Amino acid sequence: MHIDIITCLPRLIESPFSDSILKRAQSKGLVKVNIIDLRQYTTSKHRTTDDYAFGGGAGMVMMIEPIDNCIRQLKAKRTYDEIIYTSPDGERFDQSMANALSLKENLILLCGHYKGVDERVRMHLITREISIGDYVLSGGELAAAVIADAVIRLIPGVLSDETSALSDSFQDNLIAPPVYTRPADYKGWEVPAVLLSGDQAKIEAWRHAESLERTEKRRPALLRKH
Ligand code: SAH
Repeated sequence: MHIDIITCLPRLIESPFSDSILKRAQSKGLVKVNIIDLRQYTTSKHRTTDDYAFGGGAGMVMMIEPIDNCIRQLKAKRTYDEIIYTSPDGERFDQSMANALSLKENLILLCGHYKGVDERVRMHLITREISIGDYVLSGGELAAAVIADAVIRLIPGVLSDETSALSDSFQDNLIAPPVYTRPADYKGWEVPAVLLSGDQAKIEAWRHAESLERTEKRRPALLRKH
């Protein structure tokens, strides 16, 4: 998979991809994450990517020209499955969307900043808008990192035990069961005995029952989909 992330503040998004699982995914060649500095696509002398809003009002707006130049040059190199603008009023991101995006080959994530992008970007240059929740961030970089992380960890081979993504919460519309590690007894707080029994069938049955109970308590709406 190839993900191009377009931003006017590249430093805001570099670190999530420079450590741990996302870093390993790249060094194993399973994904290429390319962080693109929008300022390189401006024709203006001062490399500005934003300007005042027509009609007045507080806040700058990201200009269409650098974004158009950037996307056009990227599209000349490869065909994109989706060109996604991160936006608080977009489709709400969830696990099923992450699953679907993990099957794609080439994605662009466009990060807004300030008041957002010129509306003509949204009308003509992108294919989709995704929100990570009903709240407003100061920029799309954190949202793009959230989307890319959730998608990349689903690519086969990225997690060391491939089945572990499948047993996470929201896969099968169930919440994951509780997990424990050593010590088995910490200050009298004990691990459920079944997990130490060595009886795999019993352990699986316990985990499933816990998942159902948790889902009913924490996300009852999911159970209807399960
Ligand atoms: N004026 C806009 C908000 C701009 S916030 C409005 O009221 O809708 C600046 C940028 O942060 C946006 O362009 C978008 O790229 C990003 N952003 C903010 N909140 C987000 C969210 N919940 N999900 C995804 N991107 C978000």
